[in-house]
Amino acid sequence: MGKDLSLYVHIPFCERKCLYCDFLSFNAEKSAMERYFRALENEIVRCAEDFEDYDVKSVFFGGGTPSFPDQDLICRMLQTLGERFKVAPNAEISIEVNPASAITDKLLAFKKAGFNRLSIGAQSLDDEELKRLGRLHDSRMFYETYENAVAAGFDNVNVDIMSALPGQSLTSYLETLSKITRLGPKHISAYSLIVEEGTPFSEMELDLPGEDEDRAMYHETKRILSESGYHRYEISNYALGADETYECYHNKVYWRRGNYLGLGLGASSMAGNIRWKNTGNLSEYIKTYTEKKDKECPSDQESFIPPAAEDIERLDEKAQMEEFMFLGLRLVKGVSMREFRRQFGKDIFSVYGDVIDRYIASGHLQVADEEGEVFLRLSDEGLDVSNTIMAEFLF
Ligand code: SF4
Repeated sequence: MGKDLSLYVHIPFCERKCLYCDFLSFNAEKSAMERYFRALENEIVRCAEDFEDYDVKSVFFGGGTPSFPDQDLICRMLQTLGERFKVAPNAEISIEVNPASAITDKLLAFKKAGFNRLSIGAQSLDDEELKRLGRLHDSRMFYETYENAVAAGFDNVNVDIMSALPGQSLTSYLETLSKITRLGPKHISAYSLIVEEGTPFSEMELDLPGEDEDRAMYHETKRILSESGYHRYEISNYALGADETYECYHNKVYWRRGNYLGLGLGASSMAGNIRWKNTGNLSEYIKTYTEKKDKECPSDQESFIPPAAEDIERLDEKAQMEEFMFLGLRLVKGVSMREFRRQFGKDIFSVYGDVIDRYIASGHLQVADEEGEVFLRLSDEGLDVSNTIMAEFLF
């Protein structure tokens, strides 16, 4: 991907914490939010100098809830990004919104500011399920948000839904899925709930669907979405139509190990085969980018690693190959054998021949020719047990 860059901007604020959430998000006073956005703006300005040669192909405002703070704060960040980075005219510029806060004025402001892709966190259209998740919205608010988004001119809309929720039956899940497909968003992300340690859910007795029902939800998702005109391009992601038009460019950069810069609290980055993440401590982050914004990096670090960076990891060749495989195999298209050779100067079979042969023999991996380029990819059966297979590509 050469000198291409994607930008992720983390907005860590939510009105209230959902019971299953382990994202870096919390509520905060208006004044704390304003201080955060001042620091974020400083970070944008500082980082842009180090990435001035890069063409920005996608921008993603995620959270948290980017539709929760005042829209002017969000729009100003996008404006600053546009002034400081070389954002391509056709860049994909996404923002996540929550139906509880995405009022019409905000949607109109986001559209006007230049966002061209909206991601709505619906999760379910069953009001009881939403309540059990601790979400602030109900199905009516989701429909309103969807209609208002379309009216505001958002043509490219993603809807997030979740399966394996407490108290959810296969029937109620399929109802949510069918109602969403009837709206015809350009993209649907369908994840199953994972109960993460440290969340309120991990302390609660939950009535979760059994393994068989969970598998049935997963298989029915594929079937219903494919019958409704969506193609699966990643384990949990579906785009309308048969081609790449509505696939999420930004997320594909993660899976293909492109360069991305995370701005904001706790945001992760990867550039030049170095990974790092920003501090997750709000006061430290604000302090770094208000009081110490001109601070020099320690001399043993690359100049583009920002001052609030933690967990800096330089990936050696083995680590790069592992990532190439286990991230790339998430994509239905798989990994390009030519790209592996280009990046590592070796044939993929000379490194992973044993594992590849074994899983081709079992029917979990396939070699496929697409317009003259050869890809190694998981079969449908392989995608069903992807975690097990991907683990085999770790040295
Ligand atoms: S809206 Fe999203 S980020 Fe915020 S608490 Fe709920 S799940 Fe977490």
